[in-house]
Amino acid sequence: MRAILIGGGIGGLAAALALARRGVSVTVLERSPVLGEAGAGLQLGPNATRVLFDLGLGETLVAKAFAPEAAEIRAATDQRLLLRNALGTTAEARWGAPYLQLHRADLQALLHDAVLAAGCAVRLGASVLRIEQDTDRVRVILSDGTALEADLAVGADGVRSGVRQALFGDGAPRFTGQVAWRGVVPIDRLAPGMVPPVAAVWAGRGRHFVHYYVRGGQAVNFVGVVERDWREESWTEPGDPAELQADFAGWPPVVRAICAAATTPFRWALFDRPPLPAWTKGRVTLLGDAAHPMLPFLAQGAAMAIEDAAVLSHRLEAAADVPQALKAYEQDRLARTRRVQAASRFNARLFHLPPVLERAAFLAAGVADSLHPAGTAARFDWLYGYKAP
Ligand SMILES: Cc1cc2nc3c(=O)[nH]c(=O)nc-3n(C[C@H](O)[C@H](O)[C@H](O)COP(=O)(O)OP(=O)(O)OC[C@H]3O[C@@H](n4cnc5c(N)ncnc54)[C@H](O)[C@@H]3O)c2cc1C
Repeated sequence: MRAILIGGGIGGLAAALALARRGVSVTVLERSPVLGEAGAGLQLGPNATRVLFDLGLGETLVAKAFAPEAAEIRAATDQRLLLRNALGTTAEARWGAPYLQLHRADLQALLHDAVLAAGCAVRLGASVLRIEQDTDRVRVILSDGTALEADLAVGADGVRSGVRQALFGDGAPRFTGQVAWRGVVPIDRLAPGMVPPVAAVWAGRGRHFVHYYVRGGQAVNFVGVVERDWREESWTEPGDPAELQADFAGWPPVVRAICAAATTPFRWALFDRPPLPAWTKGRVTLLGDAAHPMLPFLAQGAAMAIEDAAVLSHRLEAAADVPQALKAYEQDRLARTRRVQAASRFNARLFHLPPVLERAAFLAAGVADSLHPAGTAARFDWLYGYKAP
């Protein structure tokens, strides 16, 4: 079986590796001439790290990552702890795989190495123009006129997916009115012990700030989300450090210290789409943000793409009929990805509430959690306990 993966992001590379491990001959087409970008971290819940461990990447992954002790949400106004979920060994014991934080470029590089070692072809600087299909095969045409044939094609080409447009024509993604500041700060630019070893969320009215370690604790990744009308979307749109500092002036000292140490912050406008009722046509399907773009407020976009990769390869392994297998993959994934999209949107509102409502919301969550034997952790079982085949 031959597959073409359109897009060499986390989703495309994870799917390439999962398919290659099950004997599929894979070509990845990535429009960028180089892989890897500056200044972005990713958190990967046990639902995603389990898949990467199964693909044989556990040791390299752990070597590049940081495992936080807990996830904590605090009020930016008075630093009060609103919610704590133990991670570290507790997460591993409960959900069977670690909760890890990585630099996105490190994850992409280790997937790229593994994909090449598994015998996949990766063509950088290869921009897909259109796809044609008949009952027996797909033809993928590149912007330089080259045509490639395969048994199936997967659009893993991100939130602005051209493959999605070609299949379903559902227009451009919607700007959410939120802009994320992102950056990675080397640890030696911050006072020792200043940044706790947790996934920290500071919630404030109309904005929030997230920070956590990557690279074994050698650097701190941050994401600062503000509500603003600005619509560029890129991994590498440089922002003005003074503007970042102004956005979080008066916030807790650790937030201000990280902003002050961020000499090259990037800006990323957040876009969203309503869920699709289906994302497969014949021998072409979608995966990752192309199929179900995720707002970052549950830290699950890349994780969902990695889960997709495992399910897709599972469905194709035993497939007698490719279109049927692609449809089965889509059906396996629709309800879960829709639920995660909805939960991410809910958090967007929760993190930006005025202080009084925020207190009330977290108080109610705390009371509900205290009634459950496993407390807060139980609330995440559906998310982190999911076992992709
Ligand atoms: C601020 C922020 C924080 C986030 N934090 C987290 C987190 O903590 N945890 C998490 O799991 N997720 C997180 N995410 C989400 C995560 O980054 C995305 O969901 C994930 O990267 C999607 O991967 P993908 O492979 O589907 O798409 P992408 O990473 O967008 O990759 C698509 C690729 O396709 C290529 N491409 C596009 N068009 C073509 C074409 N025509 N031909 C060839 N190639 C093409 C692009 O160049 C790109 O390389 C965050 C996102 C943001 C914005």
